[in-house]
Amino acid sequence: MYHTFLIKYGEIGIKGKNRHVFEDALAKQIRLALAKKDGSFSIRKERGRVYVECSGEWNEEETVEALQHVFGIVGICPVYTFETTDYEALERDMLKYIDEEYASSSETFKVKVRRVNKNFPLTSMEIAAKLGEAILQHQPSMHVDVHNPDVLFDIEIRDRVYIYSKVIPGPGGMPVGTNGNAMLCLSGGIDSPVAGWMIAKRGVGIDAVYFHAPPYTSERAKEKVVDLAKCIAAYAGTVRLHIVNFTDIQLAIYDNCPHEELTIIMRRYMMRIAEHFAHERGDLGIITGESIGQVASQTMQSLLVTDSAVKTLPVYRPLIGMDKSEIVELAEKIGSYETSILPYEDCCTIFVAKHPVTKPDLGVIERSEQKLNGIIEELMDRALRTTEIIRVNA
Ligand code: ATP
Ligand code: MG
Repeated sequence: MYHTFLIKYGEIGIKGKNRHVFEDALAKQIRLALAKKDGSFSIRKERGRVYVECSGEWNEEETVEALQHVFGIVGICPVYTFETTDYEALERDMLKYIDEEYASSSETFKVKVRRVNKNFPLTSMEIAAKLGEAILQHQPSMHVDVHNPDVLFDIEIRDRVYIYSKVIPGPGGMPVGTNGNAMLCLSGGIDSPVAGWMIAKRGVGIDAVYFHAPPYTSERAKEKVVDLAKCIAAYAGTVRLHIVNFTDIQLAIYDNCPHEELTIIMRRYMMRIAEHFAHERGDLGIITGESIGQVASQTMQSLLVTDSAVKTLPVYRPLIGMDKSEIVELAEKIGSYETSILPYEDCCTIFVAKHPVTKPDLGVIERSEQKLNGIIEELMDRALRTTEIIRVNA
């Protein structure tokens, strides 16, 4: 019955003169999301509406799922559409639609008609009233409720007639590509993929950096991070994942700095490297999965000290006020949780001290870092030079 979806978008509808930029970005993201699916799809923009028309071997469930990964989409409405220029034919098709979708329903309903094609007979109000009556006679178990209907039959009469009543929720947000790019610090944990997803939801393209420490961290740990990048790519498009060999830097910190400060100093070097690659990519910020108080390295004092290592970019921490349980819930929703909980070693946990500082002082940490002078420059340089970059797609 269907071969068309009406795409409802929220915020992007209210962007004034920039509206077409947002609509184009949305259309592009829809095209990308559907590119690998069976069937052929055409995306049509028409006076503030975006339609996806499907043909060939397309599968409804798969198509809807793909659309549910496109930020900017608030609702996906399967539309019954046909060509007619007279009321009787419209009524016949409307009742066919009721038989198909609401055969044994006893829900309340309202009919809303918008007549854009002024050559169609009767006014919008008259058509709505006549159709309402026809539905009542055809399906006596349904009743009219104009204030709070269970089902709203939305009918638009343009060059064709469009009928829809179901709205499948989309992910919301803004189309990726409308808000620049940012560099995500992506570990193998639960938090950072969620953090990347949240920023991508606001229209931001995602680059990522992962620090590994072979042979202390395994090839499997790295594969896991690639899989997490794939989860993000399913929403955000291609993720350029930078894989940094962090072993020598970690060993140097271990050999030269107080052990209770290892984690915080290591985090500062991670941020410096993230900042370097962010610049290289033209990214406008760094993203982490930190949340206040979650671990010793995420107390307010620790965050302050970590933050001071980044000189030129904002650090976005979208999970900052969230509890772990809330983060887990989101991770399950976006599909990263199953991968995140697979066992792995993180380079942060390898060299971790028994009693890490929880209230580091910036001056003290900077003095400890000075012990690395003369060693760290070469190691940083090598880490940057040997970084492997993989393009990760969903
Ligand atoms: P996650 O669940 O995201 O791993 P976490 O609770 O384990 O977070 P930390 O290990 O303190 O917290 O890391 C805080 C943040 O630092 C992470 O969310 C991530 O953004 C970044 N980070 C930590 N380890 C790495 C790593 N090996 N590679 C890249 N980024 C990392
Ligand atoms: Mg972690």
